[in-house]
Amino acid sequence: MQCPHCESNKTRKNGKRRGKQNYKCTSCGRQFVEFHSPPKGYPDEVKQQCLKMYLNGMGFRAIERVTGVHHTTVIYWVKQLGSQLPDMLESEPIPEVGELDELETFVGSKKTRYGCGQQ
Ligand SMILES: [Zn+2]
Repeated sequence: MQCPHCESNKTRKNGKRRGKQNYKCTSCGRQFVEFHSPPKGYPDEVKQQCLKMYLNGMGFRAIERVTGVHHTTVIYWVKQLGSQLPDMLESEPIPEVGELDELETFVGSKKTRYGCGQQ
């Protein structure tokens, strides 16, 4: 158990207080109860990357798979961002894909025809 005051690992158990394990640091002499370290901090660039992915329409689970950041953390960041910059969360218009599909179909059939002609 690391001392929250001086970050020393020279701590020892010092009985229980109200059901919680009490520790005493032998370095600074201060007492503290068992504590849980806050969620693992991520560098700001990771956070920005996750938010960018979210803004590009990626799902939280997908972002988790790509970046390794737990989806609840990403959701937390998005909520944080949403409260700061609500305008940024406006969804972008979905681009028209109909024309692209037609083009691909056209190229595909052309290729097939070429293939038949060569054989
Ligand atoms: Zn200490």
